Amino acid sequence: MKLKNLEMMLQRLGGFPKPRATLEQYQTPAPLAARLLFHALMKQDIEGRKVCDLGSGTGVLAIGAALLGASSVTGIEIDEQAVRAADANAGILDADVTFIVADIRNPDLPAKIGPCDTVVMNPPFGAQKAHADRPFIDCALALAPVTYSIFNAGSAPFVKAYTEGRAEIAEKVGGAFPIKRTFAFHTKDVQEIEVEILRLIRNQ
Ligand code: SAH
Repeated sequence: MKLKNLEMMLQRLGGFPKPRATLEQYQTPAPLAARLLFHALMKQDIEGRKVCDLGSGTGVLAIGAALLGASSVTGIEIDEQAVRAADANAGILDADVTFIVADIRNPDLPAKIGPCDTVVMNPPFGAQKAHADRPFIDCALALAPVTYSIFNAGSAPFVKAYTEGRAEIAEKVGGAFPIKRTFAFHTKDVQEIEVEILRLIRNQ
């Protein structure tokens, strides 16, 4: 499959039925999701791999990973409504993904769902709750040797410091995240924020 095809397929997916600001529910736009997934595919981290999506929301990243040939995909999401939307989205593209309602802060979760090869995620950036992305990083490192995650541009030094001794940032890819007016505190119709995709490799 070509990057453009994946992007067009992901474009067809539905959004959050009732987005919740406290959970920072922003669907990854199809071009950015496709870019992350293709990058991971080129690094041999998707095809034939067991993939987990943490905070899977409406399932864009998880579904894309399944379409690119992951051997199994699990999406973990705290919000039941989002999981229902994700299941419906998987149906639209006939993608084989298991979405589970769970809190990634639960320390028993990694043992429950078992190890995987690759984590993909677009965690809350911490705009509503400082450091909201940290438990996502911890859970990702507990689950998989390789993680692809979207952060605010300029986050790399903080992620590096936070994961010191546990993981290395192997790559950084820049991107844009156009956020449509979703919540009352949004003042523009579309606000484009700069983001970076980090590839984290867990230390042996
Ligand atoms: N991965 C999706 C959604 C990104 S928004 C996408 O790329 O489109 C971040 C998601 O993390 C939201 O769906 C939110 O409900 C979920 N989330 C926030 N805190 C969580 C937690 N503690 N455990 C599991 N999911 C959580």
